[in-house]
Formats: sequence, structure tokens, C-alpha cells
Amino acid sequence: MEEKEYIALEHIKKLLKDNVIPPLEGELAELPLLQDIHNDLKAIREITYSFSMGDLSPTIKVRGIIPGCLKTLQAHLRHMIWQVQMVEQGDFVQQVQFLGEFSTAFNSMVRQFDATLKTLKQKEEALTALADSLRNEVTNRDSAVEALRESESQFKYLASHDPLTGAMNRRSFMDRAIIELAASINHNTPCSLAMMDIDHFKHFNDTYGHQAGDEALRHVVTIISSLLRKNDFLGRYGGEEFIFYFSHVDKNTSIAIAERVREAIAGTPVQLKSGPTPISASFGIATFQDENSEEKNDLETCIHYADIALYQAKKGGRNKVVCFSKEMAEV
Ligand code: GH3
Ligand code: MG
Ligand code: MG
Repeated sequence: MEEKEYIALEHIKKLLKDNVIPPLEGELAELPLLQDIHNDLKAIREITYSFSMGDLSPTIKVRGIIPGCLKTLQAHLRHMIWQVQMVEQGDFVQQVQFLGEFSTAFNSMVRQFDATLKTLKQKEEALTALADSLRNEVTNRDSAVEALRESESQFKYLASHDPLTGAMNRRSFMDRAIIELAASINHNTPCSLAMMDIDHFKHFNDTYGHQAGDEALRHVVTIISSLLRKNDFLGRYGGEEFIFYFSHVDKNTSIAIAERVREAIAGTPVQLKSGPTPISASFGIATFQDENSEEKNDLETCIHYADIALYQAKKGGRNKVVCFSKEMAEV
């Protein structure tokens, strides 16, 4: 072998093995074939180095079996990177067919991701449905509680009020009057009871009919309700008889309040189909703790006294207010 050929082979060996690319100089640079080999190997070295550092960007212009294989490797690796990016975006149908065991492991991992995500989604849907049904149940329970509360208060109202006129019924009037009276005695403040009875109501019913009588009862209660002070209250004692509790009032004020109610009833006819029809009522008052009142301060006695006074009002011609006095009891 000629020396020149030997040096050329040495150069190729260095190109293949050395860390640094040997310069092509001197008489070697004049060998065109060696120049081609030098340039090809240099390009292949640079591409391989880039790949080994994870950089797949170099454009492979060199031709031949090695650059061809590098190109295929580059294309496979680029496609694989794209597939991984697609998986990252949630596309779990990607299957890597390159890199043997890596592909098997990768594909199995993607399938597991897919299955896990599907399970999680199902669980999320089940949880959402559960939350919805819980919310519905809470709403239903709230409405049921609300309805119960409403019917409870309706029941309480019905149990304590007269259905025809809306006035307190006798029992609830008495219950409240006992409490108010006890407080009044405790604080040593005067108060009074008034019994009211509609005048000639039987005749009213006989003349205009029972329904008109009912209308008259509602009419009277409406008038009274508009006149009563905040702490006074009214009860339907029975039939066309009503009872008032006037709090913090002495004898004269009680008479004044009852007079005002009497006047309003007498001055406001009932509007019947047959036309405006006058109506009137009589009142008997009994006062507690008033300087003129009796020693006894119990409710029953006071009602009895008010009844006696009412009887006097009827006897005296009706449409009147009469206050109880000792002399009446002695009669
Ligand atoms: P006085 O002036 O003496 O009170 O005579 P009066 O006719 O009002 O008294 P009486 O007790 O004889 O009659 C009361 C009438 O009240 C008899 C009854 O039919 C009527 N009444 C009682 N409750 C109701 C009711 O709820 N509706 C109607 N329409 N009438 C009733
Ligand atoms: Mg009566
Ligand atoms: Mg009457």
C-alpha cells in the first residue's frame, strides 16, 4: 500500500473514532474521494451528536444508508413526540408502534389512563347525581316543614278563633283574659270587661234571613276591630254576644271606649242586598281595680257584673252603655 493511501485510511479511522474531527489538509485535501468521505462522515457525526443530545432538529441532507437510517429514526422519534403530546391533550387512542418494549409499556400506560379517567368520570357523575338528589331532598324536606308550620299555625288559628267572624273564640279569650288580669293585678293597674249583645237580633234574622244575620255579625266585628286599641281584645262569647277586655283603663275611659264602639255600630248600617240596614248593640261594663269597683277581682265575677250591667242597658231601652255598680247587685 502506498503511503498516501495509508494516510487517507488513517484519516478516515480518526474521523470515525476521534473526539475531535481531524482537519483535512495538505496533500489529503487534494483527494476528491477522501473529501467526499470526510464531508459525509463529518455530517453524520454532527447529526448523531445532536440526536444523542436530544435535538432532533437537524435537516439531514447527506445521502446513503446511515443518513437514511438516521432520517427514519428522526421521523419515528418526532412522530412519537407528537403522539405523547396528543396523549397529554387527552387523546387516549394513540398507540406507539415504535421502540419495542417502550411501545408496549407506553401503550399499556395510556390504556390505564383512559380506564382510570373513565372510572373517575363515572364516579364524578354519580357524585353529581347524588348531590342533586340530596339537594332535592333538602328542598322537599324544607317545603314539608314549611307546610307543617303553616298547617300548625292554621290549626292554632282555627282552634282559637270563631270561624264566622274571625274574632277570638270564648276559650281563647278567657285564657288571654286570665293572663292579662293577673298582670294587671300584679302591677296594680285598672282594667275592665264589657259584654256586648246585639239588639233585637232575633227580629233581624227573622226579617232579613239567617245569612243576613251572619253578614251583620261579620260587619259588627269589622267595625270593632278598626276601633280597638292595640292591647284591647275581643271575643265571641256566644251567639250575638261579644266580650271585650280593655287594658289599663279606669271606669270612665272604659265607658268612653264602649260608647265609641256603640256609636260606630249604630251609625254604620249593614249593607244587605235589600239595602243599608241599621243595627245596634247594648253594652255592660265591669271594672277591675277601680276605686269604685268591687273587692272581688276574679274573671267570673267580673263577667257576671258586666252581664248585670248589660241587662240594665237592655232594660233601659237598648243601644246603651251601662257600667256596673254595687246597687245593681243588691237589686
Ligand atoms: P235582645 O235585644 O234582647 O238581645 O233581643 P235578641 O233578639 O237579640 O235576643 P235573643 O237572645 O232572643 O236572640 C238572639 C238571636 O241571635 C237568636 C239567634 O238565632 C241569633 N243568633 C245567634 N247566633 C247567630 C249566628 O251565628 N248567626 C245568625 N244569623 N244568628 C245568630
Ligand atoms: Mg243574646
Ligand atoms: Mg241580642
